[in-house]
Amino acid sequence: MGGKTPKYRRVILKLSGEAMAGPSGFGLDLSVIGRVAEQVVNVHNMNVEIAVVVGGGNFWRGVKGESQGLDRATSDYMGMLATVMNGMALQVGLERLGVETRLMTAIDMREVAEPYIRRKAIHHLKNRRIVIFGAGSGNPYFTTDTTAALRATEIGAEAILMAKRGTDGVYDSDPNQNPDAVRFDRLDYMELLSRRLKVMDATATTLCMDNRIPLIVFDLDVYGNIEKAVCGEKVGTFVGRE
Ligand code: UDP
Repeated sequence: MGGKTPKYRRVILKLSGEAMAGPSGFGLDLSVIGRVAEQVVNVHNMNVEIAVVVGGGNFWRGVKGESQGLDRATSDYMGMLATVMNGMALQVGLERLGVETRLMTAIDMREVAEPYIRRKAIHHLKNRRIVIFGAGSGNPYFTTDTTAALRATEIGAEAILMAKRGTDGVYDSDPNQNPDAVRFDRLDYMELLSRRLKVMDATATTLCMDNRIPLIVFDLDVYGNIEKAVCGEKVGTFVGRE
């Protein structure tokens, strides 16, 4: 694509469940997924190894069940299962574009996906397959943001691309409520934590900080942004210490 040079050679892309849904934010929209898949494939075609961690919020979130009287662990497991549906849909979207993929889940579901094995995931990436991580970390009380941080550390990803919908970076206050909200170009992890900015949960941020994995937060709805982020172009907010 245009002879651009990637800054990173192995990345994790975090897609929230919302990234798979249409305007209602619920369920799956194959045309939305197709658009995202195209951008992922464009990055893959730049010889960048890309693994995707999918969220599940378009179907279920642990806190939602808890608020209705479900015990949290059960509700969280339901959320993890939701991410697998997204992973399967994204896999279809990617394979329609002619690339090889593997869906690996942290909860065994051998009929639909491979079990997550770190060394195997790395092997797939080296063999030009796009890897999708489903079922979060396999543990309740965590999020898929934490999963992204964990998997990035495990597989030696050089950056986490946090693709967001409806926001184009990290602001000092909620831009939907405060018209004077200011967007940061760069931020340190500690600032993210101390200012309680809602980019990802504190566990995920701490993991990134401890392992020095930069985060790039950007708007998924601007076509081509994933590629720009991979090339180190200014897009959204860079969180890290570089
Ligand atoms: N979840 C979990 N452990 C994990 C990852 C996810 O229990 O390691 C559950 C949790 O209930 C969460 C749900 O799966 O609310 C869906 O994931 P998440 O909310 O991170 O999805 P997103 O907001 O990215 O769509």
